[in-house]
Amino acid sequence: MIKHDIVVIGGGLAGMRAAVEAAERGADVAIVSKMHPVRSHSGAAQGGINAALGNREDDSPENHAFDCVKGSDYLGDQDAIEAMTADAPKQIVWLEHRGCIFSRLPDGRIAQRPFGGAGSPRTCYSADVTGLVILHTLWEQLERFGVKVYEEFFATALCVEDGVGTGVVAYNMRTGALELVHAKATIFATGGLGRVYAKTTNGYASTGDGMAIAYRAGIPLMDMEFVQFHPTSLKENGVLLSEAARGEGAYLLNKDGERFMFKYAPNKGELASRDVVSRAEWTEILAGRGIDGCVLLDLRHLGREKILERLPQIRELALDATGKDAIDSPIPILPGMHYAMGGIETDKFGATRIPGVYAAGEVACVSVHGANRLGGNSLLETIVFGHRSAEHATNYIRSAGNVRPSERTLKAEHDRIAEILSRKGGERHSGVRKAANKAMSDHAFIFRNEAELTAGMEALRAVRAAAATMTVADKSKTFNTDLVGLLETEFLVDVAQPIMLGALNRQESRGAQSRTDYPERNDAEWMKHTLMRYQGKTADPVADYSRKVTFTKYEPQVRTY
Ligand SMILES: Cc1cc2nc3c(=O)[nH]c(=O)nc-3n(C[C@H](O)[C@H](O)[C@H](O)COP(=O)(O)OP(=O)(O)OC[C@H]3O[C@@H](n4cnc5c(N)ncnc54)[C@H](O)[C@@H]3O)c2cc1C
Repeated sequence: MIKHDIVVIGGGLAGMRAAVEAAERGADVAIVSKMHPVRSHSGAAQGGINAALGNREDDSPENHAFDCVKGSDYLGDQDAIEAMTADAPKQIVWLEHRGCIFSRLPDGRIAQRPFGGAGSPRTCYSADVTGLVILHTLWEQLERFGVKVYEEFFATALCVEDGVGTGVVAYNMRTGALELVHAKATIFATGGLGRVYAKTTNGYASTGDGMAIAYRAGIPLMDMEFVQFHPTSLKENGVLLSEAARGEGAYLLNKDGERFMFKYAPNKGELASRDVVSRAEWTEILAGRGIDGCVLLDLRHLGREKILERLPQIRELALDATGKDAIDSPIPILPGMHYAMGGIETDKFGATRIPGVYAAGEVACVSVHGANRLGGNSLLETIVFGHRSAEHATNYIRSAGNVRPSERTLKAEHDRIAEILSRKGGERHSGVRKAANKAMSDHAFIFRNEAELTAGMEALRAVRAAAATMTVADKSKTFNTDLVGLLETEFLVDVAQPIMLGALNRQESRGAQSRTDYPERNDAEWMKHTLMRYQGKTADPVADYSRKVTFTKYEPQVRTY
């Protein structure tokens, strides 16, 4: 048995920030991660991280909070949003003092670029490789504090004894052994679920593992129907071209060369919030004003020098995938699945309903993004709530009594995986994953309606039945990626259903949930969170709408950009 005070599941920005904080506070903390921390999806973040530093224009945490509340289409919890925007400047300074290299203004202050839905330029950045730079800064801190990292450990289940969290069971990918990782506090930081969809900007590891693990253990998933489709992904491979491009002034054009965004967002144009821009693009494409199912991202007028200085990675990604050089050619793009607003339900300290269990980063629903996240707020969320959850957890473990190691969860996981390895016939997990991806991409995309979502639920029920028969061809113990792929597919199938059912139930359009049969936001009936509870492998989730939205001072208004 492995034993620590606190175990953090995931080594992305949220996980590393939590681990560093816990270590600084003197706790014995370890990270369990299915891959090396610096390979986490956080490293792909390009555009930047928001904080009201006010370096380019007057700004304040209150302005930042208002933009988040409006961006969330009034579904975000305002107390959590205010906590995040108030912590933001402190956390940027914390990163800066630990060696994070941000891009600069000529006078040496941290530079800030405009981002969608923001009232002033408040996105701090390191060229267009911000995530990677912060990830490496945190990795250095992890080394400095000697935090133990269990790499290539794949968490499969949460341990709960006497109503409190006691760690996880993890599959050691190098040896094929299941390990009991015993801890007084467990912090999930396993990132997003992009791979639920056929095409996504997310890495291959974003399979919703932590969400599914917590959900199976009885913690509700919140607001799962709100899936962000980013306006600028490449048709060829789904890869993201950051909002930094539009932040630096890039245009969106239809096939007639028209900057169409001003028809949809007269004030903000290309810098409206993401749900608005993605819907506008899709509307143009459906109306026949696209080119080969795409619209164009045009950077040419920014000039070679600015593109090479501020957006070098974007140019390279586009060049690799399309053969087109953004310096002299517009790039075909379309909306692509990007981010999960929903996740494990937590309070504003990252605590879940099970004492000793926390969630931070994309895996969590705090909720600071509500129905639509603003660009630059996710990196911020990982840092702020990584810090806050570790702060809460280190206080919690001081007062928590001794907890029993969950030998029974270890045994149950052992039996479950032995049964999977012994299966014969059945479906290959790659086929089941494709069917789940197709159901989601066909039925729960940008525009949704009752008939499509009902058909989507039916398709997912068939996927669920097939998932129960999945087999692996490889039965070996060393780096059995076939088995890990199967376990990830099980997680994907579990988290797909709350998305589809949440979208079907919510009879309104709010943020990223756009129902053609209910085109208006309906505050009277739907100003409430969706909680989804797991009902086992053979049943639909059950929805619960008892959690109200927390208001502080921002009254709902009509949302225009
Ligand atoms: C291409 C791209 C660009 C983006 N750009 C921006 C941006 O500019 N600004 C912004 O604010 N946001 C951006 N985002 C969103 C943001 O990067 C992510 O939401 C955020 O980095 C997620 O961080 P995380 O720490 O929660 O998870 P991740 O960085 O995804 O890390 C998850 C970790 O969990 C581990 N893990 C997962 N499952 C298991 C398991 N079963 N067992 C053990 N370990 C597990 C993984 O190994 C990994 O270490 C972008 C996202 C993408 C995909």
